[in-house]
Amino acid sequence: MAAAVPAHDARAATAAGRGAERTWVTHEILPGETYEDIGARYGVSKREILRWNKKRLGSKRWLIAGRKLRIYARRVPPERVRTTYVVRKGETYGKIAQKLGVREALLRHWNRRSKGRGKRLYAGQTLVVYVDPTPAEPSAGAGDDGPLPEVRVPPGSYAHGKPNRGRLIGGVQLQSNDDFTVRNPDRAYATSHAAAQLMRAMAAFRRRSGYGGTVLVADVSKKGGGRLRPHHSHQTGRDIDIRLPKLEGIPDGKVPSADEIDWIATWHLVAALLETGEVEYIFLDYRRQRYLYEAARRLGISKDELGRVLQYPRGRNAKPAVVRHSKGHVIHMHVRIKCAPDAPSCKSY
Ligand SMILES: [Zn+2]
Repeated sequence: MAAAVPAHDARAATAAGRGAERTWVTHEILPGETYEDIGARYGVSKREILRWNKKRLGSKRWLIAGRKLRIYARRVPPERVRTTYVVRKGETYGKIAQKLGVREALLRHWNRRSKGRGKRLYAGQTLVVYVDPTPAEPSAGAGDDGPLPEVRVPPGSYAHGKPNRGRLIGGVQLQSNDDFTVRNPDRAYATSHAAAQLMRAMAAFRRRSGYGGTVLVADVSKKGGGRLRPHHSHQTGRDIDIRLPKLEGIPDGKVPSADEIDWIATWHLVAALLETGEVEYIFLDYRRQRYLYEAARRLGISKDELGRVLQYPRGRNAKPAVVRHSKGHVIHMHVRIKCAPDAPSCKSY
């Protein structure tokens, strides 16, 4: 599959493992490609691409199709081939892009001079596409897409009151495991319901994204809940701070810039959390939502679907959206899990 960092790219990254050796590759720029496309393909940031290619890019930094870039790749997808795609009845650019795992804008760009009937595609029309030389199985791009796993969590831990004025009855202490690392066990108590959703989503996220780096679960609640400085919420065991997954090779201790975050992996994580059906909100700075949006688009998620999930690009007060702007949430997302159905004294806001 093509420009979109499909699953096998991500799996290649896992196979290489953390701290594995990187490889210099030559990338031939495709028509319409952006720095973000190229960065996502090789797991590198725009800043790195600019640094390695100062002379080639010149002061204007234009990406000119056919020119070559040197990339110190964190993952090496197979080289793409130019081929043609025959349109079937009823197919749109959007559908085909999703099927092939490429960005719709790129697909349109490659075919901007093709003569259709007006702007519409018709059955039998041929399109130019650049794809990886692997059998293009539709929907294989999403990796292992099985259902969320069931997990065993001690029952009997409930939220009482509101997230910013409440407490935690009981409290399941989250433990570091293969899927995530708990930063501070004293601040990692959750309701049974929240712990279960987190663990299911994390397991599915690992399987689907192939992401091999550390995912840090930071503050949840204290044992028994109540005020947890410096937060206002985090009082009832259903607010969970998760550090955004970094691109492989960015050291664990480093505060990442926006283009050092693995936004494709982040999207997989958000999608798995939403799939639990038990997420009330995810707080993420509006400016960061743009990166998440673009990564999701690259994975073929439709604008309609994203409109239900993200505020971007509709403005930081847009409704309805699960992912909401909140100041300061730039290197972590804050996930609020819903009240459990059997917790009558748990209050939403
Ligand atoms: Zn938080």
